[in-house]
Amino acid sequence: VDLDRLAIIEAHQLTAKLYNYLLNNTQHGKIAKDYLLDRGLREKQIDHFMIGYAPDQWDTLNRFLTARNFDPVLMEKGGLLSAKNDGSGHVDRFRSRIMFPIWDRDGKVIAFGGRVIGDGGPKYLNSPETMLFTKSRVFYNLHHARPAIRKSKQVVLFEGYMDVIKSWSAGVNNGVATMGTALTEEHCAMLGRQAEEIILCYDGDDAGQAAALKSIPMLEKAKLRVRVSILPKGKDPDEYIEEYGPDTFLREAIDGAATTTKFKLIYSRKNHILLTEEGRKNYLLEAAGIVADLDSAIEREVYLQELSREFNFPLDVLKQDCQAKVLELQ
Ligand code: ATP
Ligand code: MN
Ligand code: MN
Ligand code: MN
Repeated sequence: VDLDRLAIIEAHQLTAKLYNYLLNNTQHGKIAKDYLLDRGLREKQIDHFMIGYAPDQWDTLNRFLTARNFDPVLMEKGGLLSAKNDGSGHVDRFRSRIMFPIWDRDGKVIAFGGRVIGDGGPKYLNSPETMLFTKSRVFYNLHHARPAIRKSKQVVLFEGYMDVIKSWSAGVNNGVATMGTALTEEHCAMLGRQAEEIILCYDGDDAGQAAALKSIPMLEKAKLRVRVSILPKGKDPDEYIEEYGPDTFLREAIDGAATTTKFKLIYSRKNHILLTEEGRKNYLLEAAGIVADLDSAIEREVYLQELSREFNFPLDVLKQDCQAKVLELQ
């Protein structure tokens, strides 16, 4: 079994090089590459992240691996090939996709994420779970980011490959992503061992914000201080960087990431119609509950003062309500 592991690892390494070669040196690869360049990636990033192209054929990788004496059945187990339905052999798992190699923490390629070129679905096809690739434990880019995470004691968590790559070029060298899967307790524990603070930089759409809200208690349980980037509606980090540039991204989204309380208040606001008295009342009730979660009376006071000013609402009433909720929590 150990030999199987080694063979699968070697096959992934070679496959990553093959796909990267095809991206850079073939006519079809050029379409994929132009797509990436058009999305604002540079040659340098394509190299650094070893991005590649799986051609629109059934047997490119199959023949490549077979010629190098890799056992197709093992390659199927490793997630690189698929068995044909009629049992008559194997075909490439990834076809006509832009290929992102996924590394383990030591920098060995153990899986791939494959994106369609342009629109069409499924947008991403990732490697299946294999003996090497356990999605609940792997972060994209961790091998690159580990030194910066350890040094700064801070990690930035993204949703997607493109977000990690774009922000890397913007200077975020401590950024990682999960692969379309929800953040797990195992993920959190891993990060908690390496960092003290985490910045959640999820997509600015409803799904991203809901995922951030759900992740906060899990990360806090792993003893991480959490902050949340608040991106303009619907934008993800990749799009934000394209539109506003790296400096604005670093300043607003990373350095300016909100406290979890601030984030929860903003999130809650969206569910209330603040133009109506009823809506304002309900929001303030919910807000008092959010602030009551804070352990420090000073911090609670700061947020309550802000709410009081903004809504022109008596501070002592907010305090009374918040205090009642604090006692409930105890
Ligand atoms: P792009 O910028 O290329 O459109 P994205 O990273 O913004 O991609 P999202 O739709 O925001 O794509 O999804 C975030 C992440 O979730 C992706 O990077 C990918 O890891 C994962 N993902 C998205 N769609 C799928 C899918 N159909 N199957 C598996 N994973 C997916
Ligand atoms: Mn999204
Ligand atoms: Mn996205
Ligand atoms: Mn995107």
